[in-house]
Amino acid sequence: MFCFQCEQTARQDGQAGCASAKGVCGKDETTADLQDLLIYQLKGLGELSSRLHRRGTPDQDADSFILYALFTTLTNVNFDRTVFVKLIAEAARRRDGLRGALEAAGEPLTGLSAAAHFAPAADLAGLLAQANIASVRAGLELVGEDVIGLRALLLYGLKGVAAYAHHAEVLGEQRAEIYAGIAHALDVLAHDPADIGLLLDEALALGQLNLTVMEALDAANTGSFGQPTPTRVRTSPVAGKAILVSGHDLRDLHNILEATQGTGINIYTHGEMLPAHGYPKLHAYPHLAGNYGGAWQNQQQEFSDFPGPIVMTSNCLIEPRPAYRNRIFTAGPVGWPGLRHIQHDDYAQVIQAAQAMPGFADTAPKTSILVGFAREAVLGAAQTVIDAVKAGAIKHFFLIGGCDGAAPGRNYYTDFADHAPDDTVLLTLGCGKYRFNSHEFGNIGPLPRLLDVGQCNDTYSAIQIASALAEAFACEVNDLPLTLVVSWFEQKAAAVLLTLLALGLRNLRLGPSLPAFLTPALLNVLVEKFGVQPITTAEADIAAALARAA
Ligand code: SF4
Ligand code: SF4
Repeated sequence: MFCFQCEQTARQDGQAGCASAKGVCGKDETTADLQDLLIYQLKGLGELSSRLHRRGTPDQDADSFILYALFTTLTNVNFDRTVFVKLIAEAARRRDGLRGALEAAGEPLTGLSAAAHFAPAADLAGLLAQANIASVRAGLELVGEDVIGLRALLLYGLKGVAAYAHHAEVLGEQRAEIYAGIAHALDVLAHDPADIGLLLDEALALGQLNLTVMEALDAANTGSFGQPTPTRVRTSPVAGKAILVSGHDLRDLHNILEATQGTGINIYTHGEMLPAHGYPKLHAYPHLAGNYGGAWQNQQQEFSDFPGPIVMTSNCLIEPRPAYRNRIFTAGPVGWPGLRHIQHDDYAQVIQAAQAMPGFADTAPKTSILVGFAREAVLGAAQTVIDAVKAGAIKHFFLIGGCDGAAPGRNYYTDFADHAPDDTVLLTLGCGKYRFNSHEFGNIGPLPRLLDVGQCNDTYSAIQIASALAEAFACEVNDLPLTLVVSWFEQKAAAVLLTLLALGLRNLRLGPSLPAFLTPALLNVLVEKFGVQPITTAEADIAAALARAA
């Protein structure tokens, strides 16, 4: 096992990477090795899919499978080795099907990679014996750390892109250019490229593709549930039976709301599901009662305390404690050995579990937070914002976006928000906001100083806001009084980072620690070519941002 795909990767004696029997996230070495093999198999499948796309005859089922299978390998998504054994076999079967389609079409099958020919073993022991060829560091002695790091950047960004594309797809947004772009990136990786310039170009192309994916996801979410509007979300429980829904998948939340109508069960959001309350068609369900708890890393305590079943719809799952192991359900790409998995949107078992549990005995005094400042809501107040900037009432915008995690260095983001001067506006995205979204930041005129744009999935919305402000002020986005403060944890954030780089956005602070797969030379490229800066201290970084804009 060797894995260094997330921010919390083991870092010891100058070496980074989880390489023992179990990773920091709880992923065991068998599951890690099987995930590597699945990725290897997907490279071969993607290569053949890419050829079909180039012929104009893509295989939709295979392309959807690729998204789903990549999503299962993200940090804190699926820990169930039996799932990966099946996915590896299915990837091989689908790959052979695509090869047959190409042969039938008369395509000469020359120049295929080893991954496209790979024959997975029929049992677990055999698969584990094959895992070495699929390691993310395979070929290190031939190509060196920089190439391995850039391949990892491309692969991890691709995982994030696939996850976003899957979220959009389940709501009906299926775009040929997205599937073609993902297959192309797998095709590139299948051939183990060692050209630094090519890998950098492919990483930026992937970032550009991710903008399209995020636009599709935005269209899927807003088309299905309406444009988010500023909405107060209750953060204290009400008496009654309850189900908790965590993760990012708005479709799953919608289906749970539908399935529980008239049952008397209240639905609470958790983690990244919080922004769901801002969508009018979700908010309209009277039993969408509120939000419970905070970011993913607090789930073991919060899920233990919650008096009802829990549904985990996507990242980020951590090892369930015995206190709730028999009442947590997984959905979509998520999995943990022994947990019940929702099949075919059938929530009957979840409803039964909620009815068998006590729920909340009392209604607690009401507390709330404000969500729903996605692009339409912010741009609807654009004139107010522009006037406030021109009058000097707003001096700067800080977009504090990305993931939360358990590392102590993440206090930086709380300090940053708390120390930002009163004449600055804080835009938030992702679960990192839980570190400070209950703090009181006041208003600038009629505008709250803290504006939550939504999930990490809503980065497109933030980009649209920045573009519209730049247009209003007749300048480039990089000339706006805007600083991006990105907290990364996993591979969705890697995809977003590539998008920001592809768009040429500078003035970007990245933390709490820099990706372990990027060598000093690669980090230097990020600093010199793209203006990415590691975080230092909140006070110093705020001062530097304000000085730059002055
Ligand atoms: S996902 Fe992160 S914590 Fe888990 S094994 Fe990989 S690097 Fe380690
Ligand atoms: S923003 Fe990232 S870390 Fe947070 S829940 Fe979403 S995927 Fe996980």
